[in-house]
Amino acid sequence: MPLPKPMPTPASARPARLLTQNSEMRAIGAWNWTLPAWAGRLPDGRTYNTCPSAGICRRVCYARHGTYTWPVVRAKHQANLQFVLDDPVGWEQTMIAELGARRFRGTWVRIHDSGDFVSDEYLIAWLRIIRARPETNFYAYSKEVTRFRALVEPDPPTNFLWVYSFGGTQDADLDVAVDRVADVFPDEGAIAAAGWHSQAANDLLAVLGPHLVGVPANRIPHFLKLLGDRSFGSWQAEVDAEREAARRRRGERSLAGGPESQHSCAA
Ligand code: SF4
Repeated sequence: MPLPKPMPTPASARPARLLTQNSEMRAIGAWNWTLPAWAGRLPDGRTYNTCPSAGICRRVCYARHGTYTWPVVRAKHQANLQFVLDDPVGWEQTMIAELGARRFRGTWVRIHDSGDFVSDEYLIAWLRIIRARPETNFYAYSKEVTRFRALVEPDPPTNFLWVYSFGGTQDADLDVAVDRVADVFPDEGAIAAAGWHSQAANDLLAVLGPHLVGVPANRIPHFLKLLGDRSFGSWQAEVDAEREAARRRRGERSLAGGPESQHSCAA
């Protein structure tokens, strides 16, 4: 059955303001736009995944905990997503219009407190928005490495900086010698021991400081227990290695006498 066509979001259902400030952003004079984290269901029953390349990070996702789960906060983030999905043109125009306000001149906007660049179309829309507002600076963390390599890296807007973040399914495509990368560590001591540079004093250090960016893990006890003494990057590497070993074992079993190998040999 074909998917229903997107319907323009009625003005009454749109978020009053698209860009907001949490305490961290207010402290540095920046603003942020956000989507709900990872997977969920909208009030109309549609399901979504706003972090298609999330890996182990989803198991300890700060944005699936605490205030982010309060109904009023979740509803606001879901309304943002609904606006993007149902009326992408209206959303883009509204974002450009809102960014025209004087308060955004010379400031920074963080794209996504949670969520990621969920599709090519959505990332391309953001690139148009960024280019339409050259007097504002934009930055983002992202695990969408392939999408950025194809759509952003060849010709990035001068007012847009980004950092790739570990803990996703595309970690293996990152090169710490070349790429600006962020990793979450258990604490500041672990960041320093690894020789990385903490962004804790100011989130803008993620894009303006040295290119190996350490993020101290949120102080959420059960998440810290799961993380142990690993970083997101080393945890994801463990998971990737286990998957690869399991895949090899399955392949060896198949070669040792499974129906597919018999068929191949016969061929
Ligand atoms: S990418 Fe970010 S928001 Fe999405 S699941 Fe991972 S930590 Fe959460």
